[in-house]
Amino acid sequence: MTIKNYINGEFLNPIGDQWLDNYCPSDGSIYGKIPNSFIEDVDLAYESANSAFSEWSQTTLDTRSRILIKISELLETNLDRFAEAESKDNGKPLSLAKSIDIPRAASNFRFFGNAITQFSSESHESVGQNAINFTLRQPIGVVGCISPWNLPLYLFSWKIAPALAAGNCVIAKPSEVTPMTAFLLGEICNDAGLPKGVLNIVHGLGETCGQAIIEHPKIKAISFTGGTATGAKIAQVAAPMFKKLSLELGGKNPNIIFADCDFEKMLDTTIRSSFSNQGQICLCGSRIFVESNIYPRFKEEFVSKVKELKVGHPSDNLTKVGAVVSKSHKEKIMSYLKSAENEGGKILCGGYESVVSGFENGYYIAPTVIEIESNNCRLNQEEIFGPIVTIMPFETEEEVLQMANDVPYGLSASIWTQNMNRALRMSKSIEAGIVWINTWMMRDLRTPFGGVKQSGVGREGGMEALKFFTEQKNICISYD
Ligand code: NAD
Repeated sequence: MTIKNYINGEFLNPIGDQWLDNYCPSDGSIYGKIPNSFIEDVDLAYESANSAFSEWSQTTLDTRSRILIKISELLETNLDRFAEAESKDNGKPLSLAKSIDIPRAASNFRFFGNAITQFSSESHESVGQNAINFTLRQPIGVVGCISPWNLPLYLFSWKIAPALAAGNCVIAKPSEVTPMTAFLLGEICNDAGLPKGVLNIVHGLGETCGQAIIEHPKIKAISFTGGTATGAKIAQVAAPMFKKLSLELGGKNPNIIFADCDFEKMLDTTIRSSFSNQGQICLCGSRIFVESNIYPRFKEEFVSKVKELKVGHPSDNLTKVGAVVSKSHKEKIMSYLKSAENEGGKILCGGYESVVSGFENGYYIAPTVIEIESNNCRLNQEEIFGPIVTIMPFETEEEVLQMANDVPYGLSASIWTQNMNRALRMSKSIEAGIVWINTWMMRDLRTPFGGVKQSGVGREGGMEALKFFTEQKNICISYD
């Protein structure tokens, strides 16, 4: 299958006619070609977006809303096709792509299609001065959206939908590791009546195609989700150019379990927060801290449940853990396992590459639980982004709070307790953008989403995203 760039409503080969291989993680085969785009392709996308801007920015909110909702409906109609493509490209269980990834991408378009009709700005009466101010919120112009491979269409659409709803034209680049559903989206946008050039999707490597978007002098805002090191590089280029920047980066999230929690609910949710999507979700709770008086019970029951998780081909309905996204990512994850024991870690289960019969060249890793003695080890300080969690006991609220915050990241945290005083007290002190109490990854699209410290700058979601994708202008009127 050959993927093409989507520019001005058409599917184009890259100008330089260079291509990259697209791999299928579940069997290691090369199953397609991806454009290896460079600056000239980004320039073409810019010309197309810029030409479309004056008309798109003036379309009524009702028209924009109807088009976005139509895209959402077409994604739902094509659920199976998109879910199969996502699963094949990424290695995630097909059941997950069908129940989470594609429905959520459809929700993103629907949500922002509706949200734009409710978006408003403020007015301020200057009392005693006979003046009134109002705030105009205008689309920025041509904006860049760059997304990662872990939740491909889900995160791609999370950026594109608010950018379009707010009246911008977009140049978007999905991860070169998982480009397929972004490619398919172009077709759906045409079918939904999105005018030509309003959305342009270019494919290619981060350091060339992505970098060309960041460096483009006329692209005025960048919304990026990906690794912290990449985010820092992007900020170095974009900040001196005074671009608006939203950065959603890595995480190393604590999952804090007190003895008074609802044990069964906690255990089931902790299996999900540890291993969903092979642990490749920025929100996964990869550091599990358990109050010492229930630690032995937790350790025994958790490990026994983890051992039951079926590692298998993504299309097998019984599969709970599919393939990790690429060979190089598998090797990165395995490197942490190789050094685990030197860091005082004891592997309680997993710790090896799994072989799935018939798919021996796929990238499978057994879900792994490592018992550790200190939070100050690579295993607990660095984002591994794979099916690996650490567990360790704690004695007091103060001690666990100190460990929870003692990482460079601050994306999310979970707290399990029936004591709401404690839960709320801790929520205020935890350094994170999102705290879940007695749950995990329960999302309401209206809420602000993002992290602190090295997990990012800015917030996505709800009206925050529409604010990011608009520029404010204060207009002051004097009257007699
Ligand atoms: P990555 O940083 O390697 O790549 C992300 C995107 O950036 C890709 O499209 C890539 O091609 C592009 N890119 C790379 N270098 C670039 C450059 N110099 N200029 C412009 N673009 C460039 O990240 P990844 O490996 O695809 O994704 C995994 C990371 O994403 C993890 O760290 C994870 O925590 C993070 N993530 C964060 C969130 C969040 O909401 N905070 C959500 C999902 C994933």
